[in-house]
Amino acid sequence: MAERTRVLTGFRPTGPLHVGHWAGNVGNAVRLQNEGYECFYFVADWHMLTTHYDRVDELPAFVEGLVLDLLAAGIDPERSVLYRQSQLPQVAELALLLGMITPLGWLERVPTYKERLRDMAERDVANFGLLGYPLLQTVDIVIVHGEVVPVGEDQVWHLELSREIVRRFNRLYGDVLVEPQALLSETPLIPGSDGRKMSKSLDNTIELGADPDTIRARVRSFVTDPMKIRRGDPGRPEICPIFALHGTFSLDDVARVEATCRTGELGCVDCKSLLADHLIERFEGFRERRAVLGGTPDLAKEVLASGLERVRPIATETIEAVRAAMRFEG
Ligand code: SF4
Repeated sequence: MAERTRVLTGFRPTGPLHVGHWAGNVGNAVRLQNEGYECFYFVADWHMLTTHYDRVDELPAFVEGLVLDLLAAGIDPERSVLYRQSQLPQVAELALLLGMITPLGWLERVPTYKERLRDMAERDVANFGLLGYPLLQTVDIVIVHGEVVPVGEDQVWHLELSREIVRRFNRLYGDVLVEPQALLSETPLIPGSDGRKMSKSLDNTIELGADPDTIRARVRSFVTDPMKIRRGDPGRPEICPIFALHGTFSLDDVARVEATCRTGELGCVDCKSLLADHLIERFEGFRERRAVLGGTPDLAKEVLASGLERVRPIATETIEAVRAAMRFEG
């Protein structure tokens, strides 16, 4: 790649990374870095507040844990710029300015806003920050001139909104912001133990760093096809969360699992055990690296400080151009 394309992705520090992250944005982030993209990856700690504003005591540990998880997953801070969103005040200023030109209706139409409200109905998250989440995402992208953003089919809406906001800004004030493009990436929907999307907030995850016994226990707790009670009963893999995980993590076995589930030859206990074997093997390297990194004091802080040095000049240049375009200079 002669001119490296700049790619941007953020990770919310809400707890340890899980296999749903790996199948989605973490695995993609590692792959794009290894394919030679110019990668800007950030700890989205302001985004964390949209749903976890009442858990800030955990923030320092979550931020450190996330950085170490990303390093263990294969993010190389020499090749990728890894930084912390809240250490760039330029992001907050640009969010305020873009908020002035973003119609409320655009934000209200984003489907994930209503989904979040529904999924977290027991918690009080119907706040301005959650509604404005896609606007802040837009700022994250444009503050570093992000050219492409890896998104799954379900996030295309967010990026389309970002493009709309950028176009509106550029129409009003001049051609200052780069309009990002979607890099459609495979992000298979990984269900959690209750069959809903795997999510830390739903407490249905399998953590990447979990030890083998914990992985086995977690996999055993998964719901399966409710019509398949015992071995011999024919199953319906298409509705089974365990089969969905096999589809991502047990590629060598997935065809056999599907066939023998349908005939009833395979029982759910053995099927789960097979999945646990694959997960334990797949993430063994992660567990080992993570254990070593966890014993290196201040590593996360040093990585973030170095990332900040690299991203700050770019963010400063962007906000200065925006201020000038909006007549806030001088
Ligand atoms: S055999 Fe496997 S795929 Fe089939 S229902 Fe049981 S756990 Fe699911």
